[in-house]
Amino acid sequence: MILKNTPVTRDSFNDLILPFYNPSFFIPIKGEGSRIWDQKGKEYIDFAGGIAVTSLGHCHPKLNQVLNYQSKKIWHTSNIFTNEPALRLAKKLVLSSFASYVFFANSGAEANEAAFKLARYYTAKRYHLKKNKIISFYNSFHGRTLFTVSVGGKSKYSDFFGPKPLGIQHATFNKIETVKNIVDKNTCAIVLELIQGEGGIIPALKSFVKDIRLLCDEYNALLIFDEIQTGIGRTGRLFAYEHYGVKPDILTIAKSLGGGFPISAMLTTSEIQSVIIPGIHGTTYGGNPLACAIAEATIDIINTNNVLSGVKKKSERIIFELNTINKRFKLFKEIRGMGLLIGIVLKEKFVDKISDILHASFLEGVILLTAGNNIIRMAPSLIISEADIIEGMNRFYSALEKIL
Ligand SMILES: *Cc1c(COP(=O)(O)O)cnc(C)c1O
Repeated sequence: MILKNTPVTRDSFNDLILPFYNPSFFIPIKGEGSRIWDQKGKEYIDFAGGIAVTSLGHCHPKLNQVLNYQSKKIWHTSNIFTNEPALRLAKKLVLSSFASYVFFANSGAEANEAAFKLARYYTAKRYHLKKNKIISFYNSFHGRTLFTVSVGGKSKYSDFFGPKPLGIQHATFNKIETVKNIVDKNTCAIVLELIQGEGGIIPALKSFVKDIRLLCDEYNALLIFDEIQTGIGRTGRLFAYEHYGVKPDILTIAKSLGGGFPISAMLTTSEIQSVIIPGIHGTTYGGNPLACAIAEATIDIINTNNVLSGVKKKSERIIFELNTINKRFKLFKEIRGMGLLIGIVLKEKFVDKISDILHASFLEGVILLTAGNNIIRMAPSLIISEADIIEGMNRFYSALEKIL
């Protein structure tokens, strides 16, 4: 039976899609640069970027060109073959990072799953089977597979899905003493986000990251940076770890990497690579030519002085505008983050207004995100124009004016 294309509305969601999400009232159907249009033709400025994903805005002409080109060559061959785009992309990642080897997957959670499995496999082979403890942080987020929600620091995401994997401990972010209290010779890895993203845009302190590196070296534990949200230009450097002067043993990236096409990667060193033999881990789609071609084009554009230094300028412009808004409404307690990952912390008395603020912003034609329960998050395109920043901020101002 061939179904006719019947019109769909937001209401259809409730009858068709499992309610793991509660999407907003409009359905976007078209995007260009930092603007989005819904079914009714209403236009929005996009400060959310698909949750830090559409790093070059929507339908970037160069990405469209590469997508079209590769779609006519070959889409998928599986990992019984390698392919040219994957090799080219891997080379670019290796040349511009601490790493010597790359593994491709399709989502952030899968890259982290691979990272945690590899860390355990490495320490089991190199040391002993008991060296399997993973230390992570309260409030952290690492994805939604059972292993990654268990490592993640919010039990809300893992409760009732048990039994959970064992050997995972949590310490307090930016409090090195809490790590020192639990690290020991059986610690396999310490994993952290350099800016806790879902946890509320909380940057790690430089001294904290340096001390974690020292602890890892002392206890022969691996240091894993989850740069799924911070990587590929988001903070104004290709990788956020470059701001810290600390190198990890394993690093994961996703979100920005494909500019909106699903792809993720795990990067690591030759030493860790040395224990791997074919067959111990894998994925059907990971590293497919279509995704890799688009990611390669995304990196080619982002990893330039022009775009990376632009991130800093755009960030400063946004923060300037936010401060101006705050002079009028006295609403924000703090503005924090790095580059174009910005968290706006609301004063206590406005916290229960956060969903009204987001809704009013949508109505005015500007898309914002939240992080945690009292933080408005912005993760726009890394190449958003000044005109779009100003227009979006004007709409945000009008939204606040209406409800406050
Ligand atoms: C988004 C995110 C993930 C999960 O990525 P998915 O693609 O949703 O699986 C993991 N870690 C961090 C830091 C993230 O921001």
